[in-house]
Amino acid sequence: MALIVQKYGGTSVADPERMRAVAEHIAFTKRHGHDVVVVVSAMGKTTDTLIQLANDVSGTLPGREMDMLLTTGERISMSLLCMARADSGIEAVSFTGSQVGIITDTAHGKAKILEVKGDRVRAALAEGQVCVVAGFQGVSTDKEITTLGRGGSDTTAVALAAALEADSCEIYTDVTGVFSADPRIVPQARKLAHINFDEMLEMAGAGSKVLALRSVEFARNHNVPLHVRSSFTWEPGTWITSQEPKMEEPIISGVVTDITEAKMTVVAVPDRPGVSATLFEPLAAANINVDMIVQNTGHEGTTDISFTMPKADLATAEAIVARVAGEIGAKGFEHDANIAKISLVGAGMKTSPGIAAKMFRTLADEGVNIEMISTSTIRISVVTAATDLERASRALHTAFGLDSGQSYSAPLPERK
Ligand code: ADP
Ligand code: ASP
Ligand code: MG
Repeated sequence: MALIVQKYGGTSVADPERMRAVAEHIAFTKRHGHDVVVVVSAMGKTTDTLIQLANDVSGTLPGREMDMLLTTGERISMSLLCMARADSGIEAVSFTGSQVGIITDTAHGKAKILEVKGDRVRAALAEGQVCVVAGFQGVSTDKEITTLGRGGSDTTAVALAAALEADSCEIYTDVTGVFSADPRIVPQARKLAHINFDEMLEMAGAGSKVLALRSVEFARNHNVPLHVRSSFTWEPGTWITSQEPKMEEPIISGVVTDITEAKMTVVAVPDRPGVSATLFEPLAAANINVDMIVQNTGHEGTTDISFTMPKADLATAEAIVARVAGEIGAKGFEHDANIAKISLVGAGMKTSPGIAAKMFRTLADEGVNIEMISTSTIRISVVTAATDLERASRALHTAFGLDSGQSYSAPLPERK
């Protein structure tokens, strides 16, 4: 008998029919003799709707109140799922993140998990119950309700799996696994049977939303095998483990696209020591995750500095940059929210020279202009105009021999 943590994303529990299908699958797993802990996301687009509602009510959105609001989405799902489960004759009990002792730091909206106590889950499991835990939330060291950042239910699931020493963590979503690219953007994407933690970490870090970055960090640090699969077809999906790629596996495992970032440029910054520190320190203090940074060549004693960061933090960043630009004597600043980040990820890159050159040549042949570049040992990322996203990612997918030869065929629920 195994202990399995199953996480169901928003589309998997979007309506009563989906809730019942999920409840049936949980009962199926339980009937096979396994202990089951379920983590649920908010139904469908609930989180987006709640954010919109908050914006409609006020221009000021205090983190504490936002987290109080957003955590209700997952509470709706957990209780409804337990009710749906009652029909299948298996006992289930719902818990909030706070009730199961998911202790976080105090950063509202993007809290980090510090500890998972899990006592109530262990007790309920010992009584043969299925535990349904609200994803995406915890309670801070200040005893306030917090959320873990968008997509955070993945993190709840993996953190619980690690704390409970589960045998595996199944991430049920609306695609049949992790693909060589987002099948919504690159129809020729191929399903990967296996990918290792390091590659998945780079894919998630480059912005692939199939798994939240922190969930992959947890899985790697605690060696929790992940199985990403579909709650629409229930077929076997992609395993993510510590296993190294085999020799014959392709050099590039995926093309990752991300449209959640914006670019900010501080224009004509005086070229002197300390300027970058003055600019980036307050951004870090405001918890803004700066991603790529490019400092252009200086001319006439000044230089331009560009960086990318989440679009969601644009307003906060602008207020900081406006103040700092004045302080350091820069000419001004501008932002561009219509950008895309496209990355190639592959463990084989370490030992294969020429990948960057081939990437740039492919983009040049497509007439795609590269605005920024950054690399790690197993990733190369470029920033382009948002309008180039599909053309560029499809061309790269083809150029690196990743096309599956057929268009993605499993159901892809529409997202509005
Ligand atoms: P959930 O609500 O289940 O958490 P998400 O929307 O967060 O689902 O993640 C699933 C989506 O991730 C898919 O519908 C797909 O569009 C997108 N995606 C992005 N990159 C990939 C990839 N490499 N493989 C599979 N799906 C991907
Ligand atoms: N409901 C949250 C979100 O939409 C968390 C999640 O789905 O993982 O971001
Ligand atoms: Mg998700």
